[in-house]
Amino acid sequence: MSGLSRRNLFKATAAAGAGAVVLPGTAMAGSVAMDGGDPAAGYLDDAESKGAKGPRAKLTGRIVRPNDPGYEEASLGWDELFVHYPLVIVYVQETQDVVNALTWARQNNVALRVRAGGHSLEGWSNVDNGLVIDVSELKSSHIDSDRRIAKVGAGLNQGEAVAALGEQDFAATTGTEASVGLAGATLGGGFGFLTRYLGMACDSLIGAEIVVPSGVDGAKVLEVDEKHHSDLLWALRGAGNGNFGIVTSLTYKVAPLKEVAYLTATWAGLGDLQGVFDAWQSTAPYVDNRLGTQLEVHKPEILFFAVLADGTEAQARKLVEPILSVGNPEVTIQTGAWADIYAGFQVPTAVEPANWKFFSQFTRKPFPKKAISIIGEFMNDAPTDDSNFFTQAFGGAVQNKPAGGTSFPHRDALFYSEPGAGWGTRGEPDSGDALTPTAQAWIAEFSQALRPYVDGAYVNVPNIGMQEWERAYWGRNFARLRRVKAKYDPHNVFQYEQSIPPATPC
Ligand SMILES: Cc1cc2nc3c(=O)[nH]c(=O)nc-3n(C[C@H](O)[C@H](O)[C@H](O)COP(=O)(O)OP(=O)(O)OC[C@H]3O[C@@H](n4cnc5c(N)ncnc54)[C@H](O)[C@@H]3O)c2cc1C
Repeated sequence: MSGLSRRNLFKATAAAGAGAVVLPGTAMAGSVAMDGGDPAAGYLDDAESKGAKGPRAKLTGRIVRPNDPGYEEASLGWDELFVHYPLVIVYVQETQDVVNALTWARQNNVALRVRAGGHSLEGWSNVDNGLVIDVSELKSSHIDSDRRIAKVGAGLNQGEAVAALGEQDFAATTGTEASVGLAGATLGGGFGFLTRYLGMACDSLIGAEIVVPSGVDGAKVLEVDEKHHSDLLWALRGAGNGNFGIVTSLTYKVAPLKEVAYLTATWAGLGDLQGVFDAWQSTAPYVDNRLGTQLEVHKPEILFFAVLADGTEAQARKLVEPILSVGNPEVTIQTGAWADIYAGFQVPTAVEPANWKFFSQFTRKPFPKKAISIIGEFMNDAPTDDSNFFTQAFGGAVQNKPAGGTSFPHRDALFYSEPGAGWGTRGEPDSGDALTPTAQAWIAEFSQALRPYVDGAYVNVPNIGMQEWERAYWGRNFARLRRVKAKYDPHNVFQYEQSIPPATPC
């Protein structure tokens, strides 16, 4: 067994996966799988024998099971550190497929997870021996330019959303990586270069279609907006990842945006780290709201990125002058349509490391010299050159809650940051395994060393093993989130390692 590569192990387990499922009536489930038959059919029969309350559900959509071609690829998320062997993956094609899948999972007592872009940083959009409801093929976009509203399918990734809006000179906040799912990012908050200008992605979310549990073993579709199920809309704005239901479409308020100025600066080595970091944290959270900035500390260099919405190159350069005046950075600057600039700074997934581990944190008081020294020391000792300390400036529009509020709580942060380790080669199974313990230990020690200077964590970059993660992600909103959970998912159908449990009745 130890001689098997992770991928071989993956195949071996996948083939045996259905037989290994622990369900009521396992003899039937096992024999169905051993025959290479339809495990789903086996579970349905089993559910019926257990007295399911609604009519028998059938999985619909594009269905991928362990013996199907493409199963291995369909089972992989972006972060290859996490490998799971689901019983069945349903690529839903319409909302009814989601209703059927949720009902089927409930009737058959099968664990389920929801997936959009597959970038969950703890692999929580996948589950061994369970059902993955994948919305990534729900790709649609309807833009009402008069009302400045866009309704998009939950399957768009961020790059597709930025491009679709850009065609009509509109924008909404997204994260910076095109391949990340728009749904996954928005439902946990969502920040990027436009955050200080337009707020968090979830701040622009004004409606959603969502499939939630209904009754003992069913599912129903809800249209959520500021007037209907507004408590659920509040929860989806920052805590919606796999907690309440399966979001099938998202409706955003969008803003006109034609051109941006995009500036990058690079400092070789880490010699200027104190000066650059201090100039950045003294400027970036307070500057003109149109300016969004990101500072990345790598072992060989410091990288700075700035986007000025609706601004000129000269304005952008002037706003960041306090930062550029430190040392002798190499600077580039250009203007262009936001969608083109966004597409231009993407790094193809294929060239990124296979495995990643991050630790998220928010900062409310500027880092003292000691904290910046810690960053330098750990980065000098980074496990790979791809590892980095990433920051994004907050302030500006983040401080304003939208009407109805959000469950995302970190309004007063000066900046978000995360140490991140990347290692291993995509497409080369096991290539990173030797480095995994080193990388994991580096992240753990790095984040621990910064603990005195940070407060709170970001649910979209979950910190596994963190004590009091509930408070770290949502602060005082957690109690209210539990009440919303009890209302929409009282049986706790949607659960995973750090999911929100329903409030217990008083
Ligand atoms: C390379 C990289 C760069 C990133 N950069 C940023 C950034 O700049 N800004 C930022 O804010 N975040 C950033 N993130 C974090 C990112 O926002 C989260 O990883 C996000 O949750 C991923 O969404 P996904 O749809 O791709 O992932 P998935 O794995 O598909 O889903 C993530 C979570 O959302 C749930 N979910 C997905 N779809 C639905 C749905 N339709 N209904 C209900 N629940 C659903 C899943 O169950 C899971 O819990 C980055 C992540 C990566 C990997």
